[in-house]
Amino acid sequence: MRNQTQHFINGEWIDSTDSNTIDVINPATEEVIGHVSAGTKEDVDKAVSAAKQAFPSFSTSTKDERIQWLKAIAEGYKKRSKELIHVMTEELGAPLSVSEDVHFKMGLAHFNQAAEALETFSFSEEKDGHTLVKESIGISGLITPWNFPTNQTATKIAGAIAAGSPVVLKPAEKTPYAAMMLADIIHEAGVPKGAFNLVNGTGDVVGDAISSHPDIDFVSFTGSGAVGEKIMQNASKTIKKVALELGGKSPLVILEDADMIDAAKTAASHMFFNTGQVCTAATRILVPKAKQDAFENAMKDTVASFSMGNPKEEGHTAGPLVSKGQWDTVQSYIQKGIDEGATVLVGGTGKPDGLDTGYFAKPTVFSDVSNNMVIAQEEIFGPVLSIIYYNDVDHAIDIANDTVYGLAGYVFGQDPDKLRYVASRIRAGQITINNAQTDFNAPFGGYKQSGIGREWGEFGIEEYLEVKAVLGMPS
Ligand code: NAD
Repeated sequence: MRNQTQHFINGEWIDSTDSNTIDVINPATEEVIGHVSAGTKEDVDKAVSAAKQAFPSFSTSTKDERIQWLKAIAEGYKKRSKELIHVMTEELGAPLSVSEDVHFKMGLAHFNQAAEALETFSFSEEKDGHTLVKESIGISGLITPWNFPTNQTATKIAGAIAAGSPVVLKPAEKTPYAAMMLADIIHEAGVPKGAFNLVNGTGDVVGDAISSHPDIDFVSFTGSGAVGEKIMQNASKTIKKVALELGGKSPLVILEDADMIDAAKTAASHMFFNTGQVCTAATRILVPKAKQDAFENAMKDTVASFSMGNPKEEGHTAGPLVSKGQWDTVQSYIQKGIDEGATVLVGGTGKPDGLDTGYFAKPTVFSDVSNNMVIAQEEIFGPVLSIIYYNDVDHAIDIANDTVYGLAGYVFGQDPDKLRYVASRIRAGQITINNAQTDFNAPFGGYKQSGIGREWGEFGIEEYLEVKAVLGMPS
């Protein structure tokens, strides 16, 4: 049992101002594995005050110092790999192999990428006779979701350290332990006290206090659109900059000349990875009507080859959903799809055979979906995929863009002109061709209601900077 009921403020773990705690549950066993403090507004005030004290020296630290801190964090993170992987499997339910190959590596990549991007990053340039200086934005509030425990926190922390912005982090209450380990790693890496602070708690209290705090200059949030809206409202009262990484309903367009078996394999693996709890998941697969049979057969074969089960046992591709609440939501969407008249090609409601304990849901593929159905419009955040048939390429593009979201898009095919045509017309922040892999050197963020701003690498550093124009400085 992990009873870690303290917050990390000003370089040390200190007691919460309130004794209330939040249960942390292992979604594969439904057991309480520990508690964290339900922090208060006073705890956030303390953390902000520590960040303010750290600001003058942290914001003027040199590029070399920041590179050294980021590299030392990456080293410390690697040293604690076993524990991080284990913790993420326990709190999120990801199979150990996924925690290792994806979650652990994504977190590490952000620290390494930020250090690398800093090497060539210029904080000052002469332009049109003026000096343009990029300076730390001030104090940043970071609010993160549970679906990629180290990726979500690391990308923000790495950008903030690279820019010299002290932070107050509120990790997701469902997956706080990997973030708490990061606090120790960051401290041991020599990052000055007060530059990194962590307050656990609920969104309503701690998240709300961060997004409305008058001394916080920037809020970087990843999570749902509904909460993003609240954060924007809170931030507007003191004209804070916000970065919002929100939801998606990403299309994967399969062109007529694509290999249907390869495309089905990649689409299904991508969709069911992390049990569908991925903001960039290709939840709408757009297939030429003429290829219906070939694609559906390939999809059925692929999904049949997946194995879902105890994340601590070897050989499983997917684990449970993160919580009972998420399980209920996913079930209601599957039922909605059935009620709306979509065809269940694979899966359906209920738990997979033999997996009665744990929040396991059946990987479900709907065929004959029309884009106006709820299952094609709303983000489900679970292992539910919709196949939508199209007549010609422009029809596919219309369907792809018929959504309030614009986070990612995928195009499969052979003809470069057609691939370029479709990629240029999908309104989304990241388009991947014939693949569903991502690259941390590429900027990441959404169009439309998928968000505001870009993360990762150089773009992630820019978020934490202000531009100052100095005019008339004698040379
Ligand atoms: P969520 O919005 O419920 O919670 C995210 C974080 O916000 C948590 O730390 C939560 O405690 C906090 N929060 C909740 N209410 C708050 C409030 N009133 N004020 C301030 N903070 C508050 O989202 P979730 O369920 O943790 O994650 C799933 C959502 O995140 C999905 O919609 C998904 O698409 C999105 N997401 C987006 C990206 C991206 O990069 N675009 C990545 C991962 C997840």
